[in-house]
Amino acid sequence: MPVSGIARQSAAPSDPLGADALARLRSTFGLPGFRGEQEKIVRHVTDGGNCLVLMPTGGGKSLCYQLPSLLREGCGIVVSPLIALMRDQVAGLLELGVNAAVLNSTLSWEEANEVERRLRAGDLDLLYVAPERLVTPRCLAMLEQTDIALFAIDEAHCVSQWGHDFRPEYIGLSVIAERFPQIPRIALTATADDLTREEIAQRLGLTDAPRFISSFDRPNIKYEIVDKTNSQKQLQAFINERHPNDAGVVYCLSRAKVEDTAAALNKAGILALPYHAGLDARIRESNQDRFINEDGVIIVATVAFGMGIDKPDVRFVCHLDLPKSVEAYYQETGRAGRDGKPSTAWMAYGLQDIVQQRRMIDESNGSDAFKRVSIGKLDALVGLAETVDCRRGRLLRYFGEETAGTSCGNCDNCVSPPKLWNGSVAAQKLLSCAYRTGQRFGAMHLIDVLIGRLTDKVKQFGHDRLSVFAIGSELNEKQWRAVMRQLVARGFLYADAEHFNALMLTESARGVLRGEVELMFREETGRIRAPRKHARRGELASPRADNADADLVSRLRAWRAGIARERNVPAYVVLHDATIDVIASEHPTTMSQLREVPGIGDKKLEHYGANILAIVNR
Ligand code: ADP
Ligand code: ZN
Repeated sequence: MPVSGIARQSAAPSDPLGADALARLRSTFGLPGFRGEQEKIVRHVTDGGNCLVLMPTGGGKSLCYQLPSLLREGCGIVVSPLIALMRDQVAGLLELGVNAAVLNSTLSWEEANEVERRLRAGDLDLLYVAPERLVTPRCLAMLEQTDIALFAIDEAHCVSQWGHDFRPEYIGLSVIAERFPQIPRIALTATADDLTREEIAQRLGLTDAPRFISSFDRPNIKYEIVDKTNSQKQLQAFINERHPNDAGVVYCLSRAKVEDTAAALNKAGILALPYHAGLDARIRESNQDRFINEDGVIIVATVAFGMGIDKPDVRFVCHLDLPKSVEAYYQETGRAGRDGKPSTAWMAYGLQDIVQQRRMIDESNGSDAFKRVSIGKLDALVGLAETVDCRRGRLLRYFGEETAGTSCGNCDNCVSPPKLWNGSVAAQKLLSCAYRTGQRFGAMHLIDVLIGRLTDKVKQFGHDRLSVFAIGSELNEKQWRAVMRQLVARGFLYADAEHFNALMLTESARGVLRGEVELMFREETGRIRAPRKHARRGELASPRADNADADLVSRLRAWRAGIARERNVPAYVVLHDATIDVIASEHPTTMSQLREVPGIGDKKLEHYGANILAIVNR
């Protein structure tokens, strides 16, 4: 797996643009080298070219427009959809000593005037503008009288009417290409699908512009999908054993479940804050702020939460309910580990999830075509959840990427390959049981019959007199549930939402009953694997940080929290976790040694260098 953040230090002296870019990368951003496509993109845009950048979350998109804005004459104009995102980006840039500002509805009239004055005076390197503001005649007229380095359209997929993040105000951005054809435009997105790419290119006048496409792999995210038994207990065990004191997001489908889950976590002594559209706006905002600004806060949320959250140190994303599609799963899990450090995407999934999502599609008022597409998308995700092969490989192939090798070494199936067992006979028993009982009963009753439990319902319907009664005592209830789930997932059984989720046989079940199909099932262990000791800290992003001194890490974090509070910025804006970890393992004792740490640029050294060295040397 390629390691992120590898320095490439090859700028020939005969290449002034490359040398300038690298010098600026080091002095301002404190980074040793470019990552992946960044170098090509920076060069292209600095040279005045338009382009479309497709890079996964955490890939380092911001640098692709921030650095050219500094290298080119004039101010870089960045269009960004979310106020919180703009605020945090600008806070981060100010920390680096870059003259950055925002122009959006949160500013008073006087503040906005001052920003505009600085823009006209050539005092700004980067200006973040809300899309609805940018397209006003007044703003466009002002920009026409200003020296502009480039236009960057961040989260460019928001122009797509078919996407999940459509923002009507983004449609108006086509005006940029019309009014400023000679100024470079760079559109950026982490959305992987082809249709969206085409739509961005169309709407932003980039059909002829080159596209820089990175791999969508997120090597630092470990994918894990477990059989759902008691999701609250499983979640608590996961957090306690694997991510104690880490920041994370837990996704649930409904507001009620968000509330219940947050309450259950708090009761178990794990601090968790709820977030959903039904909460009072003030509480919702304060919960989001605490998640962003404090260390190690867990947020339990509906999918309304997350877009535009730039927090780099989210260590885990959990799903207690099945998302709608592989795209949604990828996007939501992708909010973990932007900083490149090891992170976990964990999902608990069971029969009910498939049934529930199918029902939601059936009951929606979409057209038949829409329902068919939705079912197809859901099936692809169920396939990912059921697969016994590498989950990463499956995920990437879904987005049209070829993967080298068959094992990524960083998903549950690769780390401990599931045992397979031949479930053909069990499947026949279960299908016969559903058939003999009239295809009118749900999972629980069928399991009672198979195991041979004399419940009232079994007696009432005389099912204890059927030939299938007690034919399945070799498996326990949990195992039968797993068999049932896998039969539904593979389309041999169908849960009829209109009849209390009665399990009915599909056409393809015939082949199984006749013994023509061999079915291999994964064995459910239901066990949460023990944490790998010392594996978390800096394992992938900075191998050098393995021996980080834990005591020093906590002293540096405590100091960082104080600075963040004082300056009213998120902790990561002061220093990233990755930077702290390297300091704690390298123990720099001089300013020049400290300057070598990735994330320590000129300004950070000037502001915090002495403090950091004092803490290290204490
Ligand atoms: P994106 O917008 O693509 O999600 P960001 O621009 O926020 O990603 O960058 C993600 C993280 O990667 C940030 O913590 C950033 O500091 C870091 N990063 C970006 N470029 C580099 C680089 N060349 N070397 C090391 N770290 C980098
Ligand atoms: Zn794998």
